[in-house]
Amino acid sequence: MKAHSSSNVSQGARPVADEAKHHADLPRIAVLGTGGTIASSGGSATQLHDYDVTATVGEVLSAVPQLGEIATISSEQVLNIPSHDIDNAMLLNIARRVNAALDDPGIDGVVITHGTDTLEETAYFLNLVIKSNKPVVVVGAMRPASALSADGPLNLYNAVLVATSPAARDKGVLVLLNDRIVAARNAAKRHTTGTDAFRAAEYGTLGEVSAGVVRFLCAPLLLHTTATDFSAGQIDDLPLVDIIYDHQSARTHFYQSAIAAGARGIVLAGTGNGSLSTAARAGAREALEHGVRVVRASRVGDGTVTPLSEDEALQTIAANSLNPQKARILLMLALTKTSDFRAIQRYFDTC
Ligand code: ASP
Repeated sequence: MKAHSSSNVSQGARPVADEAKHHADLPRIAVLGTGGTIASSGGSATQLHDYDVTATVGEVLSAVPQLGEIATISSEQVLNIPSHDIDNAMLLNIARRVNAALDDPGIDGVVITHGTDTLEETAYFLNLVIKSNKPVVVVGAMRPASALSADGPLNLYNAVLVATSPAARDKGVLVLLNDRIVAARNAAKRHTTGTDAFRAAEYGTLGEVSAGVVRFLCAPLLLHTTATDFSAGQIDDLPLVDIIYDHQSARTHFYQSAIAAGARGIVLAGTGNGSLSTAARAGAREALEHGVRVVRASRVGDGTVTPLSEDEALQTIAANSLNPQKARILLMLALTKTSDFRAIQRYFDTC
């Protein structure tokens, strides 16, 4: 799906000539819509769960006329679905559309409206494959547009504000919800329903939007955007990588099933520090025999998965501080470049 429109909704009684000059001076932001709760509505103002995507990105934007005071907005509908239905082909398409918008010399920054369920996966993917230093901000909402105290309109306004900020350049892809600016690499959905669902926990927020002012306190140090080896334009499709969740009494059939399905990689959502249970160790051995790369991540939620002495023999890769769903994103990209486990480990150490 693709549709373009351009608008600058202005409020107030400025003379026409001043108005035109004012608009010409405003930063130009492209807003790409993909769906999610920010574009959803329920049957009543108190129906906060169980609703459908109903609005186009144009309709989401027109609910926030104040945007016209801070930016000249163009919009494009890339998808309009809940984010739990986004697949690899859609992910690549989003990345290509973002790169195309950023390549336009008339665009100063990009905002992507997105469902929150898999927002962290898309944001991290974009962080690795976008080739621009211009601001890119991914935004969503935890309450539908029809809800009492819907959070989408202010989140969208703040996301556009961040995208217009010179301080947001060179920071990699950013996630904005609940006034917090979080690096895409570290942002994770940590609450099923709360408006403060996105956090970077251990690794902190980069900044905030308070009283209409964008304030950055930190900058990401790991490789992102123009500094990575990956580019959406050079990838036709992404390899199959599955995630296997470990637990007491686990068995090996999921590993066998992933291998039989043609997976080129497996991310283990392991216990603790990416520990290898008896089943996980057997699964990793079987994967190695079939040339399938295994990354050890953790189901814990915070902290770094550190190397194990067994990694060398099993050719397993430690996920660093990436959660399993983000480790899947990086492993897919790494496998487009190499299947050497040491080279893949270097990507996990640096991206
Ligand atoms: N199910 C929704 C989605 O990810 C949730 C949300 O947007 O908050 O699209």
